Amino acid sequence: MKKILVPGGAGFIGSHTVLALQAAGYEPVVLDNLSNGHRDAVTGATIETGDIRDRHFLDQLFEKYCFEAVIHFAAFIEAGESVRDPMKFYDNNVAGSLALIQAMLRHGTRKIVFSSTAAVYGDSADTMLTEDLPKHPINPYGQTKWAVECMLRDTAAANGLQAIALRYFNAAGADPEGRLGERHDPETHLIPLILQAAAGIRPAISIFGTDYPTPDGTCIRDYIHVTDLADAHVRALGHLFSLTEKTDGGNGFYNAFNLGNGTGFSVRQVVEAAKKVTGIDFTVKEEERRPGDPARLVANAERARQTFGWQPCYPELEIIVAHAWRYMKENQL
Ligand code: UDP
Repeated sequence: MKKILVPGGAGFIGSHTVLALQAAGYEPVVLDNLSNGHRDAVTGATIETGDIRDRHFLDQLFEKYCFEAVIHFAAFIEAGESVRDPMKFYDNNVAGSLALIQAMLRHGTRKIVFSSTAAVYGDSADTMLTEDLPKHPINPYGQTKWAVECMLRDTAAANGLQAIALRYFNAAGADPEGRLGERHDPETHLIPLILQAAAGIRPAISIFGTDYPTPDGTCIRDYIHVTDLADAHVRALGHLFSLTEKTDGGNGFYNAFNLGNGTGFSVRQVVEAAKKVTGIDFTVKEEERRPGDPARLVANAERARQTFGWQPCYPELEIIVAHAWRYMKENQL
């Protein structure tokens, strides 16, 4: 079985991807510093506790396991926090990824799938985002992800790294079998916060900004089921392994892929969907804009479809919300 290092594999998307890797016959080894991840989200896979910024620890890990590839999730993710504390993000997301890529090169592991984000595009005027549009991130979080993408692109050209960046739009939902779900602390993402309002865990949901240039004045996002994201990682990895067969492993490779459904929903529409799914009429408040939020982010994911045959299985917003709601209720979150 091919051993795959999964930094950040105890987090939301990482833990779902570990399940998908196991189902596809890989042997994932999770590396997580548990700053945001949960040890109990990793079942049936080895977990090593440590930090991607720790070069000595990385050397020990690469020597111990001889990884054939890396799927790199380990990063801070909250755009608003990145505006308040950018150095925290540059340190973990950029310096951490640098240390990881250097360790890969030292140990001859040349394949990497990297968690990137729609935030690299910033506030684009285009309604459907394609991968080659200009990158103008409007918050430090997006800037750190773009910096790592550049690092991967340049290292692929110079050192034969084979890298795929997956640009997630808004990850949401939960494992359809109910094994895993979303547990951020503190929670900042729209769908789990709405569901907490529905469950009475918080008194209301706040809509951040109602004066955006969108039909109902609230931000539009492309919500993508976490299990569909996990599937995309397995396919991207398969694509990297197929490259080796075609090129005899000699050539560097870099490409980036959007992962979204291609359908945008406003914050108000997500609130309405959650009211329908839960049957609960919770309180909704309107507040000021949150710094760093682009008005609209919707994916054109044609490249992922064409290159590695990715097709979301759970594109409906109400199904995404329903899976998240079931996980919350079953786990009394
Ligand atoms: N949002 C909101 N209220 C909240 C949390 C988020 O109105 O309590 C909005 C946020 O401003 C953005 C959208 O919901 O327009 C999605 O935010 P989230 O943090 O879930 O993901 P992001 O798009 O920032 O990655």
